[in-house]
Amino acid sequence: MGDNDVTLDADVIVVGAGMSGLYALKVLRERGFRVIVLERAAGVGGTWFWNRYPGARCDIPSLEYSFGFDPELEQEWEWSEHFAAQPEIERYLNHVADRYELRSDIRLETGVATMTFDDATDSWVVDTETGETLRSRFCVMATGGLSAPHRPDWPGIDTFAGEVVQSSLWPEEGVALEGRRVGIVGNGSSGVQVIPELAKVAGHLTVFQRTATFAWPSQNRPLTPEHQAEVKSRYREVRAQQHASPLATAHTTGATIFTFADPNKFILESTEEERVAALEEQGFNASRIWADAAKDMDANEMAVELFREMVRRTVTDPEVADSLCPKDYPIGCKRPVLDNGYFETFNRDNVTLIDLRKDAIVEVVPEGVRTTTGVQELDVLIFATGFDAVSGAMTRIDMRGKSGRLLRDDWADGPRTFMGFSVADYPNMFMVIGPGSVGVLANYPPHIELQVGWIADFLEYLAEHGSTRAEVGADAQDQWCAEVEAAAVGTMFNAPNCHSWYNGGNIEGKARVIPIYMGGLDRFMARAQELATSGYEAYAIR
Ligand code: FAD
Ligand code: NAP
Repeated sequence: MGDNDVTLDADVIVVGAGMSGLYALKVLRERGFRVIVLERAAGVGGTWFWNRYPGARCDIPSLEYSFGFDPELEQEWEWSEHFAAQPEIERYLNHVADRYELRSDIRLETGVATMTFDDATDSWVVDTETGETLRSRFCVMATGGLSAPHRPDWPGIDTFAGEVVQSSLWPEEGVALEGRRVGIVGNGSSGVQVIPELAKVAGHLTVFQRTATFAWPSQNRPLTPEHQAEVKSRYREVRAQQHASPLATAHTTGATIFTFADPNKFILESTEEERVAALEEQGFNASRIWADAAKDMDANEMAVELFREMVRRTVTDPEVADSLCPKDYPIGCKRPVLDNGYFETFNRDNVTLIDLRKDAIVEVVPEGVRTTTGVQELDVLIFATGFDAVSGAMTRIDMRGKSGRLLRDDWADGPRTFMGFSVADYPNMFMVIGPGSVGVLANYPPHIELQVGWIADFLEYLAEHGSTRAEVGADAQDQWCAEVEAAAVGTMFNAPNCHSWYNGGNIEGKARVIPIYMGGLDRFMARAQELATSGYEAYAIR
């Protein structure tokens, strides 16, 4: 039995002050817990603090990518665009921090380096990067699934004489780009957003592309006061729909990244005329309206061909267009990307595409980047090369559970959790949207509210029962991991030629596992609620 008299700095240490950490602090404080939030960044907002590259914006409608826990907050906040840009979301999250007086319990510029479970006292010992040691009964990891930046380990990278910038660590003071020779590596969601903005200001922009991207026009636009007022007038209904949906979206606020296929359209049954008509009417979107493309590889390839046709129609240089056509993986394997003039950017005189499949990287040299055909001279080199996603922020902490093993070692073959909330052998540690949960497949803010709510209920239950320790059983964890694996079978995420951060395939040497539950948030939360009703039977509580 743990020693309840141990001196605790807090009941709960929350790691991270993004959306998850802010909401966790608010809720746990309201439930009577003493909370300290530790955050590495110099400000709150997480993703929206760090990713301040030009063009950074949300791909979920702002009216849905926002908290629903307080109707007053919903009504008072005015969004300016259908898809809010980074500065607006950062302002919103700062407003949340101020409005609920959260800052007094948040310690900024305080990264967590090590965490050790003290088996004798049922508490966590947390060492910060600033040299402090804190102790709490519980830890809530709000460390984010897209918060551990990944940069390729190219030879000579440290010899570059110009400026190296990571899109996800974009300096607050900005980067001088005007008239300069800028190179960018990466054309996922971040690259596709930043590339058109860079091209507008750089003297010359060189895009180094390893894999061509599927990107669809975002249809972003200013929000009209009428539309905003209309949605606000029925916000309770919208939030209820979000909470009941597999993707945490209400589909009532216009275009969204989650707008996919028409269930009645099958490309395998379509005629040439129908496909051409779809292209004429819908452009790039003609490639993502087909229900059978999600399940059948032949159907998928036909949809990909429609996409390629649109690239060829948009990009004037046939060789560049060919390089920009995705060829070797299906639509739906990676997170869809929304763009604002991405393909058109390659028609500009000041933009060069280097297709790394034809002209590979050799090394970085002081003057720029050497590929097999020569040196691209650069003043600035930008990496939009993504993240050690889903598990990276957790495994970068030296976290030791009750057996003294490192979490990093326990997860060497891929993260193993119970519902993304807990890890066997790591008592009293809870994760918000951890590996093995629905993760990025659901719109985050409503998803965060549901997950944090569940964790807060559990901690309150433990407090009411005078319990100092909760530990999930290894059997329950094994069973859950098997369910997560089974749910991914047959999906495009699991296609053999699919390499993405969803399955660890974006990082050399990372275990190829899909630690994302594909069964939908509605089903996931129903399971979580059943568990709560059962008195958390998967856990040993004492
Ligand atoms: P984060 O916002 O990632 O916050 C985690 C925080 O934990 C960070 O501030 C980090 O510094 C801190 N942290 C991590 N490790 C430590 C440590 N060891 N010590 C101290 N602090 C630590 N999702 C959507 O649903 N829709 C979108 O349109 C969308 N757009 C996105 C755009 C970008 C550019 C990115 C990168 C992600 C996007 N996402 C989107 C996902 C986004 O991460 C979530 O929507 C949401 O912001 C996650 O909030 P969070 O608090 O869980 O994590
Ligand atoms: P990403 O999707 O993983 O894309 C990384 C890019 O870098 C890919 O083009 C990748 O090429 C390239 N790359 C990685 N390593 C490379 C190497 N060694 N050599 C050459 N190229 C390399 O990362 P991201 O663009 O940052 O997006 C990650 C996620 O964040 C998104 O999927 C989304 O969930 C979220 N996000 C959302 C938005 C939004 O619109 N709201 C914006 C940004 C980010 P390969 O394809 O060949 O691996």
